[in-house]
Amino acid sequence: MSKDTTKHPCFNKKSAGSCGRVHLPVAPKCNIQCNYCNRKYDCVNESRPGVTSGVLKPFQAAEYMEKVLEKEPRITVAGIAGPGDPFANPAETLETMRLLNAKHPELIFCLSTNGMGILPYLDDIAELGVSHVTITISAVDPAIGAQIYAWVKDGNVVYHGEKGAEILLDRQLKAIKGLKERGITVKINSIVIPGINDHHLVEVAKVCASLGADIQNMIPLKPTADTPFAGIPEPGRETVLPLRKEAGPFIEQMTHCKRCRADAVGLLDNDQSSALCGTLQACSK
Ligand code: SF4
Ligand code: SF4
Repeated sequence: MSKDTTKHPCFNKKSAGSCGRVHLPVAPKCNIQCNYCNRKYDCVNESRPGVTSGVLKPFQAAEYMEKVLEKEPRITVAGIAGPGDPFANPAETLETMRLLNAKHPELIFCLSTNGMGILPYLDDIAELGVSHVTITISAVDPAIGAQIYAWVKDGNVVYHGEKGAEILLDRQLKAIKGLKERGITVKINSIVIPGINDHHLVEVAKVCASLGADIQNMIPLKPTADTPFAGIPEPGRETVLPLRKEAGPFIEQMTHCKRCRADAVGLLDNDQSSALCGTLQACSK
């Protein structure tokens, strides 16, 4: 079945007032550790990536999807954005996509990943009808990446410092190319971290654009307690807007990101994750 990909509220701002998305939290583990990440289980208090009110198994996610569509029929996108990484949990991610594709092939399927583990699954996700993938790339220089990632895990081996950042970057860049070869729309999320990578993000834009990435989403760091970057101040518009302007000639810029939770649901401007928290938790039992 053909999908109307104009109905993705993140990739097409014009549809944000009429089309919504749900993030299905089926991917709890992660294969890297970003110095700004603190994953957490919480119903209502915090709204940021990595936070969810629960984790669902694939069959539970499919059940939850039905309940979500009953309550909010404007949902056009089903995505997986953690709370860890979809490809640190590939079996759960692919099974969820399989179940959704069988029941709701009209939905747009979207995955958000750090890119570390995606390469073996490029054909699978294309076959399952995933049309949009976001890769978070905040550095294209391992010396800068080494300041952002505490470690990177490849199989059973954990790498630190520049070696880890180099392995991750290599996978990320190959992933952009491989996804584009399969006709998938690729967004690059770049976290703006003052003093660490803000001077480097236009270079990230150039490199990703040269490989065919479609759009970049520069997201201001949300300093989070109990992380190494907790003390870095959140960058304001005066930092982010000029960066978007400078990078704009190389790659389209997203300007309306809401930094959603891993269980976000509803229209971007009307998130209903707290209203549906009980439904999600009931499905997770
Ligand atoms: Fe957290 Fe995502 Fe980084 Fe993993 S890739 S450590 S889930 S921010
Ligand atoms: Fe869209 Fe940004 Fe929310 Fe992802 S975090 S669903 S890109 S608004």
